[in-house]
Amino acid sequence: MKKSGKVLVVGGGPAGMMAAWVLSEHLEVFLFEKEKMPGQKFLLAGKGGFNLTNKASRKDLISRYTPSGFLNEALSNFDGLMFREWLLSLGIPTYEGSSGRVFPEKGITPAHVLGKITGSLKARGVQFFLKHKLESFNNNMEFSFLSPQGKLTMKADYAVLALGGASWPSTGSDGKWTKLFRDKGISTIPFQPSNCGLNINWPDSVKQYHAGKPLKNIVLRVNDKVSRGEALITEYGLEGNAVYPLVPEIRTILSMNEVPVIRIDFKPVNTMEQLKGKADSILKTADYSTVFNLNSTSMALIKTYSDKESYTSPQRFSYLIKDLSIPVASLRPVEEAISTVGGLNIEELNPDFSLKKFPSVFCVGEMADWDAPTGGFLLQAGFSMGYYAAQAILKRKTIQLIDNSVASK
Ligand SMILES: Cc1cc2nc3c(=O)[nH]c(=O)nc-3n(C[C@H](O)[C@H](O)[C@H](O)COP(=O)(O)OP(=O)(O)OC[C@H]3O[C@@H](n4cnc5c(N)ncnc54)[C@H](O)[C@@H]3O)c2cc1C
Repeated sequence: MKKSGKVLVVGGGPAGMMAAWVLSEHLEVFLFEKEKMPGQKFLLAGKGGFNLTNKASRKDLISRYTPSGFLNEALSNFDGLMFREWLLSLGIPTYEGSSGRVFPEKGITPAHVLGKITGSLKARGVQFFLKHKLESFNNNMEFSFLSPQGKLTMKADYAVLALGGASWPSTGSDGKWTKLFRDKGISTIPFQPSNCGLNINWPDSVKQYHAGKPLKNIVLRVNDKVSRGEALITEYGLEGNAVYPLVPEIRTILSMNEVPVIRIDFKPVNTMEQLKGKADSILKTADYSTVFNLNSTSMALIKTYSDKESYTSPQRFSYLIKDLSIPVASLRPVEEAISTVGGLNIEELNPDFSLKKFPSVFCVGEMADWDAPTGGFLLQAGFSMGYYAAQAILKRKTIQLIDNSVASK
């Protein structure tokens, strides 16, 4: 079947690849990527846990994103189950981990997943232009790219921009596209780290003896936000799955020029009463670690962040086990974060992710200012947004074809 219309997709990450895949069924698709390979950040994601999505129900899935409502339609139109069915159709079976995270079946590497997606795109006729950096676009839908061969300008009916956030710039997602948008009067918001580590001014003793040690099965609190899991002590502070969900709250406190305090419960399975009962049997501080079953790292943190009176009183010590306050200095830099907030101000977008100022240009993925925790929610949103914008283009194209055929009668 002849493809009637031309679409440019710029950015070869998950959001762009998904848009290209959907669009390529009916339209001619040209995918531009400034790096020599698409999907560099996707590959990096795969080096860690590689949570492709999450088994959360549609309602639960939607509730994990901020600002609330912005991604509802996109996520409902392409939820976790549909994503997994799509992956399976490409030959990538997935399974649910105990935490609800969804991974590719054991033995399937990130490069294999990426290869299946790009292979399918090529089979569907998508033409790749690698090492092509978007430099500008105009109201005539002309897009100019810079490549090692020189400048290339291409005109299109529609474009999907999926230029990514600003973390891990070595993958290509450097956030430098914001200048191009600002020059056109499209509002952008400075990038900030999300799902990132915390800087804490540890004393030398903590750095020297405890950097690299995990705190397992803990609960962390910042104000009324609570997170469970593991945190890793590093030279600079804390990292880990229990830390990341608290970053939005910490970011808010820092933006008010206040000092965020992270509170650790080292023994969430024990009630305060149980710990106080154990404290009754203690005669000297040397017994703490045995009686309360605390490792040397937990003991060191409690000693560092308490006063002598509290530390030497077994009853007061038991309170510290459940609620130790540690001030947070700042967040780790954008470059190191798993994801970023900021980028394109979502006020600039119509509900179908097209730009109000350029209605035939759609913007999807992490380049827009939304947030979500780790656990597969980031990739899911990228794929859902790409899918949804592509559907919106196909709908507009169908309406246009019907209008044209009515006009010609
Ligand atoms: C270490 C790490 C681990 C992660 N782990 C997970 C995980 O397990 N699960 C999960 O859900 N998410 C994870 N993520 C997040 C996830 O990888 C991102 O949210 C996702 O890749 C964003 O997709 P995107 O398509 O919006 O943008 P990107 O993947 O960032 O792609 C944007 C693309 O646009 C290109 N580009 C930028 N500017 C231009 C230009 N001017 N011209 C042409 N091309 C341009 C870039 O080179 C890039 O290839 C992880 C991220 C990191 C850094």
